[in-house]
Amino acid sequence: MERAHRILNETFGYSAFRHDQSEIIADLIAGRDAFVLMPTGGGKSLCYQIPALIRGGTGVVISPLIALMKDQVDALRQLGIRAASLNATEDPASLRRTEQALLEGQLDLLYLAPERLLNERMLALLERAGIALFAIDEAHCVSQWGHDFRPEYRQLDCLKTRFPGVPRIALTATADKRTRDEIVGQLSLEEARCYVSSFDRPNIRYQIEAEAGGREAMLRFIERVHAGDSGIVYCLSRRKVEETTEWLNARGRAALPYHAGLSDAVRRDNQERFLREDGLVMVATIAFGMGIDKPDVRFVAHLNLPRSIEAYYQETGRAGRDGLPASAWMSYSLQDIMTLRKMMAESEGTELFKRVSHHRLEAMLGLCESTACRRHTLLDYFGEGSGESCGNCDNCLDVARTWDATDAARKALSCVYRTGQRFGVAYVVSVLRGERHERIEANGHDRQSTFGIGAEHGAAEWRSIFRQLIARGYLESDLDGYGSLRLTERCRALLRGEETVHLREHRRRQVQKVASTRAWDGGPYDERLFDALRAMRSRLAKEQGVPPYVIFHDSTLKELAARVPDSISDVAGIQGIGQRKLELYGDIVLDTIRARDAASVAS
Ligand code: ADP
Ligand code: ZN
Repeated sequence: MERAHRILNETFGYSAFRHDQSEIIADLIAGRDAFVLMPTGGGKSLCYQIPALIRGGTGVVISPLIALMKDQVDALRQLGIRAASLNATEDPASLRRTEQALLEGQLDLLYLAPERLLNERMLALLERAGIALFAIDEAHCVSQWGHDFRPEYRQLDCLKTRFPGVPRIALTATADKRTRDEIVGQLSLEEARCYVSSFDRPNIRYQIEAEAGGREAMLRFIERVHAGDSGIVYCLSRRKVEETTEWLNARGRAALPYHAGLSDAVRRDNQERFLREDGLVMVATIAFGMGIDKPDVRFVAHLNLPRSIEAYYQETGRAGRDGLPASAWMSYSLQDIMTLRKMMAESEGTELFKRVSHHRLEAMLGLCESTACRRHTLLDYFGEGSGESCGNCDNCLDVARTWDATDAARKALSCVYRTGQRFGVAYVVSVLRGERHERIEANGHDRQSTFGIGAEHGAAEWRSIFRQLIARGYLESDLDGYGSLRLTERCRALLRGEETVHLREHRRRQVQKVASTRAWDGGPYDERLFDALRAMRSRLAKEQGVPPYVIFHDSTLKELAARVPDSISDVAGIQGIGQRKLELYGDIVLDTIRARDAASVAS
């Protein structure tokens, strides 16, 4: 472990291990398997990178995302680590070189997609080479329940028998119990020690708004809190991705689309730009994001309801991997609930699959409509009790008020019943409010006992009441395309007067004062110097054709701008600057700092 510490300091430039990193590393060095559940940004990669450097032979990393391998390899080479990847995007000469290096023991780390690994020729090649370990990244891809399912992952258990004695480590940021069991079973990891880190992401601020004006509200939020930052906006459909991209661009916010309907080339281009340029917004379906290592995504916004808490947590987890403040913002509507329920009912899956999907959506709705601390609710869902409120979510910062809505709920339910359970929310609300539409009169509902009994609430308020009643299972909306409402069993006690119901108050939330995104944990720093360092980093990144964060993370630049080192040995003390980066960039960093000093003396 002494060597592991030295590599952490000298190669990676970090002072201490985080979470369970050191135990995991010790396990692998000793040749034991490990199963690692750690949130995004927790530091999973070091868990196999360091043992791969210490054990003899090459560490083989299995990852589903060919498009991202190059950046991972580039980032390692910046640290002076001998890394390479083998995949279809590379030319034959470079493939041959890599294979040769592998056989000669000249590689520390090799990245492979599962389909290439499982190829008989590749397996034979690996058997001839010396293998330090296998790291199975994004291990939740074995799960047929998730949307990242990769059938080849299910064959990876062959590594156990074909490479006895080579330790395997599976890693994922998916915390759900069912997925965990599936991973252990499918990959034959029964003997692996399981490391579960806290799933809390304290630097992410959660905010969920219902029907608060969709994209208009989102743009206000972005402009107020994240002007100039990189972010991801998730939408449910391709069409909505296209529309939202166009809309954002028209409003002066540079945005790119990403969905499965675009050609590979366009997708690759957009992803490249998002990784390489500062301040772009990626508007995407869930097809985008897995394995995206961009550490400075400052916000993730959802314009639709995600289908489960797992999905929500994974998607929002892409914000703030560098540990600096970040936001998860969401706006959803009644229509989303109906659309998702319909999609689930009409999916090809088995009855069990539908039931599970349905429960997951219910849990997601529970989170949305909750008035308790969001983080608390999330961690609770993942089986991680956390005592106190977090102070960094909308419900903690701006206490959500509830009101006794028993009476209103009874009126709503009666009106649904009296109008024959054949109409959607808009119609029933009109009847409650006593609006004299032609359609209402034609149906004779203006002469009906619930007509006008709800005039005391506005239409928007009624919609909020209905949404919450649906979310809580008092009402079901039909999947007939009209969204006709129907009462459920659950209504009985409420209608009989044996139960009361408290709902969330309908009102626009106050504008949230959010700590400036330029803030970080390390106190004040020189913003002009930070900008100058950022420009220096852009230049270096362009010259080398790599993303800026491969050179330095924002957190490293901020620490430089806070501590303003004036000698090489002081630069060496900054987090994220190891020996190799010191050699490569130490002088340029000092020059940039001195140029600023000269400029401020001159002015
Ligand atoms: P994950 O794969 O779990 O999402 P990464 O392995 O990409 O996370 O690590 C996230 C960031 O944290 C990376 O920039 C990494 O270099 C950094 N990091 C990892 N371990 C440490 C550590 N012990 N100290 C400081 N930074 C670390
Ligand atoms: Zn909270």
